[in-house]
Amino acid sequence: MASTTKRAIIAKAKILGASLVNFAPADRWDEYGEVQTEYRPKALWNMAETVIVIGVPMLLPVLESTPSINYQEMYNATNSLLDQIGFRLSVWLNERGYPSIFMPRDGYGNLEILLNKYQGCFSHVFAAKYAGQGTIAYSHNLITREYGPRVRLVSVFTNLKLAGDPVIEEEICTKCDVCRRLCPSQSFTTRPDSIIADMDVDSCTRYHQELRSESRWPCGICCKVCPVGDDRKLYESTNIGLYLKEREALDKDPDDPRYKSWVHQRQHGSSGNRIY
Ligand code: SF4
Ligand code: SF4
Repeated sequence: MASTTKRAIIAKAKILGASLVNFAPADRWDEYGEVQTEYRPKALWNMAETVIVIGVPMLLPVLESTPSINYQEMYNATNSLLDQIGFRLSVWLNERGYPSIFMPRDGYGNLEILLNKYQGCFSHVFAAKYAGQGTIAYSHNLITREYGPRVRLVSVFTNLKLAGDPVIEEEICTKCDVCRRLCPSQSFTTRPDSIIADMDVDSCTRYHQELRSESRWPCGICCKVCPVGDDRKLYESTNIGLYLKEREALDKDPDDPRYKSWVHQRQHGSSGNRIY
């Protein structure tokens, strides 16, 4: 296909609100063979030739306030934007004669369902890997050079054959251990043979149930504390030690001025007395 069509899709997706737009040929799922057959694009929709993966960022200073209603609202805003972009880009492509659909982000009804079956019907994380948007991190999140793991995803399947972006072969995650140390549910166990940790998904989900009952979910700490991402430079937020000391410091002094803004946000709009 003409590269101008790819450029036109990127331009349209950006007008709709996308920050990252990358392309994966549907055949890549078969080439890599990592994803079960029934979770691959062609199994979900037999017309799929290309998957367009769209990413939108989470704004680091808002995420830093987690667990808070402010982070919950921003998370909801990214979800709503992703669904809008996925739907509207699909319709735009259909109107130009290219049959297209989108796989909504996070397809689950509630957290109780995740306790019984955590897997979504389609992995946007693997889609983003195959589209060259980033790599899969220790924490199971997609990790990107631009935003670290602070990126949310949606995928558009199209019948249009488009050249794929090169897959990133070098790991972006440095396996620095910060997300494991600070995970409130201690859900990660390091594997010597893999960059990706073993994850106790139920433990993470049960912590989310607590947070949801307080109207301050999701958790997002593994995204907050990751040192990777150009967004850190933009926000001048490169002091990872601040996260590592947060609990100890707030146990000693809940009014510690270094954390005052985050604690303030945690104490408004949610129930419970949690300050971290
Ligand atoms: S915090 Fe460290 S180990 Fe965790 S995802 Fe980021 S770079 Fe990888
Ligand atoms: S979302 Fe929170 S509880 Fe779940 S794995 Fe990440 S840091 Fe741990």
